[in-house]
Amino acid sequence: MKTTLKNIGLLVTMDRNYRELEEAYIQIEDGIIKDIGTGKPPAGEIEIDLKDHLVTPGFVNTHHHFYQSLFRSVKEVASAKLFEWLVFLYEKWKNLDNEAIFVSSKIAIYEMMASGVTTTTDMLYLHPSGREYFIDSEISAAIDTGIRFHPTRGSMSLSRKDGGLPPDSVVQTERKIVEDSVRLIEKYHDSRKHSMLRIALAPCSPFSVTEESMIRTAELAEEFDVLLHTHLAETRDEDDFCINRKKLRPVEYMEKIGWLNRRTWFAHLVWLNDEDIEKLAANDCGMAHCPTSNMRLGSGIAPVKEMKEAGIRIGLAVDGSSSNDSGNMLLEIRNALMLQRVTKGADALSPRDVLEFATIGGAKVLRMDDYIGSIEPGKSADLAAFSLNKLSMAGGLSDPVASLVLCDMHGSDLVMINGKIRVQNGRVIDNDLPELIRRQNEISKKLIAGRP
Ligand SMILES: [Zn+2]
Repeated sequence: MKTTLKNIGLLVTMDRNYRELEEAYIQIEDGIIKDIGTGKPPAGEIEIDLKDHLVTPGFVNTHHHFYQSLFRSVKEVASAKLFEWLVFLYEKWKNLDNEAIFVSSKIAIYEMMASGVTTTTDMLYLHPSGREYFIDSEISAAIDTGIRFHPTRGSMSLSRKDGGLPPDSVVQTERKIVEDSVRLIEKYHDSRKHSMLRIALAPCSPFSVTEESMIRTAELAEEFDVLLHTHLAETRDEDDFCINRKKLRPVEYMEKIGWLNRRTWFAHLVWLNDEDIEKLAANDCGMAHCPTSNMRLGSGIAPVKEMKEAGIRIGLAVDGSSSNDSGNMLLEIRNALMLQRVTKGADALSPRDVLEFATIGGAKVLRMDDYIGSIEPGKSADLAAFSLNKLSMAGGLSDPVASLVLCDMHGSDLVMINGKIRVQNGRVIDNDLPELIRRQNEISKKLIAGRP
């Protein structure tokens, strides 16, 4: 099937030779970009007119917890910092079941998709006793939505009785974690180019996972050639935890246990010193920057400008919906720009810098930049189109790329993933969406009330 996107107002390629093309076209065949250019477009079996639209590569979200879309803006922790927030919510999260995971995953994915996301990861680290196959449930939800998905097998093994933060009810044994990780990789991981589904391994954080489990997971990742992910250096409390328990700062601890390597990407990385940044750069680690979550929990300002200058691979992420509490990537892009400027000045980052983080930057973090993250021949047809003909953009057309970041775009008008249209006229294509929202609210109400 040949599709032509034609008369594109402005096309941002985000490829190595960054270009902004006016009156452009994109030719797509069987989910792959065949050609891009300007002038008279080639004929397609399907032709879509994108006059007055800005087209960018689809956004890549590099960190999330889908299930948290059931726990947005929970009153008791609306103003709590991370550790108190977690301790309160673990007691609600322990009642999750497979239906809750399935429904909340679809909601979280659709919400991101409506803002232009075409690829996402997820870290699902909660596996309450007696419950199984949560990752399978979120994978089937993702397949339903058509998103390109790179979930991580999250895990927690250090409970309160062993000096960790989570209660016994939500942690697993190391053996169980390893068995399930291997099962998931063997069942789902597709390492081929243009893959729609890959698996990575993700022990949750230094304060919820044993050292043995961290080391074993890194060995597994090496053995099965998959990526590694965890939360790191998010708060001062975590710094204190690592120094008290390990006599090391978070990045030093990762170095000691063999986690500083090219497979790894870390979420947050707020509390770093110059030496930490040098180590992360020298070992080619990636970063999922979560500015809204960092502001929401009062965690701090990550040294993104300095990390960019050090050559670290940087992607953006909405983080879980209990600490954002939105899943709109456009807000994340804007916040990433604004937050650096608060302390480092108006030229700390440019609108094009943060757009790069959200597209090819995220693709590099997930090691998928050989086929997503930019619009160029040979890559998967993952893209987002934004109408410039709307109230909040009126008067902002002198530089549409800057306006996408600085003005209020709300959402994407058309989203294509793997050559298929998933959002049209600003709406996610799924007739069951109203029923899905109704069910999500029912489940959310029950879980927040603490009922299984
Ligand atoms: Zn997180």
